[in-house]
Amino acid sequence: MRKLVVLSGSGISADSGLDTFRTSGDRSLWAQYDADQVCNFDCWEEYFDLVHEFYSRRREQLAEVAPNPAHFLAVSWQKRFAADLITQNVDDLFERAGAQDVLHVHGRLTSMCCFECGAQWDIGYSKFDPARDRCPQCQGVHGVKPNVVFFREPAPLYGEMWRRLAALTRDDVLVVIGTSGAVLPIAEIARRCPATSILSNLESEPGLNEQPFDHVLHGRAAEIAPQLDALATRLMERPGLKATI
Ligand SMILES: [Zn+2]
Repeated sequence: MRKLVVLSGSGISADSGLDTFRTSGDRSLWAQYDADQVCNFDCWEEYFDLVHEFYSRRREQLAEVAPNPAHFLAVSWQKRFAADLITQNVDDLFERAGAQDVLHVHGRLTSMCCFECGAQWDIGYSKFDPARDRCPQCQGVHGVKPNVVFFREPAPLYGEMWRRLAALTRDDVLVVIGTSGAVLPIAEIARRCPATSILSNLESEPGLNEQPFDHVLHGRAAEIAPQLDALATRLMERPGLKATI
């Protein structure tokens, strides 16, 4: 069966009004904190209170936004084509649009983990309270960290992501949405991947070579969703490749 894999980044959720690392403006949460302090695996314990304040505010902001047409489009692909959704986003907007089994390679904002014992649990959109939010397994508090992959932290789900991308064949379709290529080498992924590839970004990114992609669509993710749907649907419904000897 022909496969459709969607690899998404912050651009898809920026259209829902969620601040991203790249959001400009003083009102952006990212502008109010130093990412080297609040998202840095090497020193997060040193800035423990600040880390939790930042992530509590991110969860609070997440509760106030809603999925946009691009999230719902990916969910419709899941229903029509059993699309495999892989995202670098830590928000839960795909799930709130109805998605199942999303591979969050950078973790999830609504989840916490414990570095003392390895426990993981859901915190929803609530503010972290060290008196209340101790690890449910070991009762510790100093090892409690947002279950999000920080800068300089290994991403344990990358292996699974690479395995799924490597399994794509010429007959399959890869859709990359809202990803600048700053974290994942998406141009290299498109170049190596034999599947027909589509890139959907707001605009050309200075550091991103779009040439390896078979199709490139520019525009706000939510606005170009119908165009993207028509293209992906056409590719998914085209006649299959004949087996060759
Ligand atoms: Zn624990």
